[in-house]
Amino acid sequence: MERPDNPGFSPAKCFIGGHWIASADGETLPIENPSTGETMGEIARGKAADVDAAVAAARTALDGEWGRLPAAERGRVLARIGKLVLDHVDMLAELEAADVGKPLTQARNDAIALARYMEFYSGAADKIHGETIPYLDGYTVYTLREPHGVTGHIVPWNYPMQIIGRSVGAALTMGNAAVLKPAEEACLTAMAFARIARDAGLPDGALNVVPGLGEEAGAALTAHTGVDHISFTGSVAVGRLVQAAAARNVVPVTLELGGKSPQLVFDDADLDKALPFLVNAGIQNAGQTCSASSRILAHRSVYDQVVERMAQRYESLKVGPAASDLDVGPLISARQKQIVDGFVGIAEESGLNIVARGRIVDDAPGNGYYVAPALVEGVAPGHSLAQDEIFGPVQVIIPFDSEDEAVAIANGTDYGLVAGVWTRDGARQMRMAKAIRSGQVFINNYGAGGGVELPFGGVGRSGHGREKGFEALYGFSVLKTVAAHHG
Ligand code: NAD
Repeated sequence: MERPDNPGFSPAKCFIGGHWIASADGETLPIENPSTGETMGEIARGKAADVDAAVAAARTALDGEWGRLPAAERGRVLARIGKLVLDHVDMLAELEAADVGKPLTQARNDAIALARYMEFYSGAADKIHGETIPYLDGYTVYTLREPHGVTGHIVPWNYPMQIIGRSVGAALTMGNAAVLKPAEEACLTAMAFARIARDAGLPDGALNVVPGLGEEAGAALTAHTGVDHISFTGSVAVGRLVQAAAARNVVPVTLELGGKSPQLVFDDADLDKALPFLVNAGIQNAGQTCSASSRILAHRSVYDQVVERMAQRYESLKVGPAASDLDVGPLISARQKQIVDGFVGIAEESGLNIVARGRIVDDAPGNGYYVAPALVEGVAPGHSLAQDEIFGPVQVIIPFDSEDEAVAIANGTDYGLVAGVWTRDGARQMRMAKAIRSGQVFINNYGAGGGVELPFGGVGRSGHGREKGFEALYGFSVLKTVAAHHG
């Protein structure tokens, strides 16, 4: 495959049935570089006709070579894709850094995670099976795990490679044929991935990519009667629309939505160990992370220490272009910057104490979407800064006096995606793991290194269904019960 300046795919086209095809009406959308605000190319503006073609190509693949491939062979294809992704980590990282504004090291980690998803799922393809069920005399009963059929994947702009890996990777493993609608703000690595998958021998039509706007290509995909399962990762507002559209066709849907994830720091916490997690979980990818830890809850006896040590770290944070590979890159768009600046403005107007901010480097291009990370302390749990998903590098610190109060604050938002608990007390660790309402609880760590093996998903407004790990494979398949009478 060629280098980043010519990565071997056509961003201004759709990828349908193994071919690069212009959108039916030939329209395109500009690609913006968030580090500079400049336009750096164009992508196809797919619409309903292109989604129709992609769904038809996926159905043809299911009825053809892809649908007939034994599970072990599907696994081998995924293994080859993973290997080829690893061979192109630099190219993928450079594309993602330019497209999303993500510092290069973080973009590189996403590319490595994409390869790791393929590796993990490749080994699982022939290990998911049904079971026999003891039943009445004269019966043999067993279950089959079958693919849904055509799966639709709607992906946001913040972690395109990781989300494609966990969702498309799992769907292909179980023998589904996928139609992927990447976010209009960040399509490039989705297109590069399609090229890599084709080069690795994925049969035509098993993966189709239709870039375009959410309300056009995305809405057409969710409303399509030929789609058998929808995996959506994005905002709560759009998640509601997706679930409503899926309900009309009675199609199962996985929703991976937002969060307001807390880390609870108790008086016996190992602060040296906790500190990097407390800050990194808030500023990674400029805070544009569903599982970002935007609320730090600190026991009053260690509160001042937590504030002071986090503030020191914030003061050393450097913000600049993705290619400079600093701590924090730009936000994805002018709109996102406006939203995040708005929250900082609310903090100022409410008289909250912004204890520290990171620094935008002097040579950062003036038209890039940079925001200096902000650490805000003493925030009331009900304040909008402690309730709303900001999706930017802003963290609030909230004091608590007791375990019960900490749990009440942790559980006191509409969301339930991730929580971190810092304590050396084993019994408290177990109590917290049970009491916190959240899809995952991390004890004395945050994120567990993003392991692809770990099922991931939310409760409450953070969504439902699980991706990653073996759980994803159950979600991307359907169980058929066979009862044979031989009396
Ligand atoms: P978004 O909901 O605006 O867009 C997500 C995707 O949905 C995009 O591809 C978009 O084009 C598409 N879309 C928009 N309108 C649509 C419609 N009417 N029908 C169908 N598709 C439509 O979200 P975003 O701003 O791109 O991403 C940020 C949100 O995603 C945050 O809330 C974040 O927490 C969430 N997120 C969640 C996870 C998770 O795993 N839980 C991971 C990453 C991001």
